Amino acid sequence: SAEREVLTWESFGAAGRALAQAIADDGYRPDLILSIARGGLFVAGALGYALDVKNLHVMNVEFYTGVNERLDLPVMLPPVPNAVDLSGARVLVADDVADTGATLRLVRDFCADHVADVRCAVVYEKPHSEVKCEYVWRHTDRWINFPWSTLPPVVRSENQVLDA
Ligand code: 5GP
Repeated sequence: SAEREVLTWESFGAAGRALAQAIADDGYRPDLILSIARGGLFVAGALGYALDVKNLHVMNVEFYTGVNERLDLPVMLPPVPNAVDLSGARVLVADDVADTGATLRLVRDFCADHVADVRCAVVYEKPHSEVKCEYVWRHTDRWINFPWSTLPPVVRSENQVLDA
């Protein structure tokens, strides 16, 4: 459908708590949370507090260039998490959305060789995602506006009073 799914900051707060509750109810106790930058950082921060997990890691994966514009394949950008840090751990991968699922597939496969258990938590999952996440707040087939990426980057204001 043409209409977008809009996530507000307020509903993001509720989503984070609901995701954490589902994870806790499932008895999954992650040793660390692996966030996928940049959208997954917000999700990982919320889950880190709600699940009382302080060990947070970041992975940079680049895929989309704009609305419905994607590269052929997602790529991991350096620095890539140290395999020793992940070794034997129960890992919770946190991201904003599983769309094609290619990003989470890449991260999950990267983890799989090293970790004891890897599970994925996302705010949204789309029906065609090749990865079925263990923890999903909502399912949608729409393009989602996230509160952190809806506005354009700030630019320096005009008409500033300059000192020198
Ligand atoms: P995937 O690899 O699952 O196709 O896409 C993963 C990434 O693409 C997400 O982490 C997100 O950054 C971006 N993305 C995919 N679908 C959407 C969407 O509906 N809205 C926004 N804002 N970003 C999206």
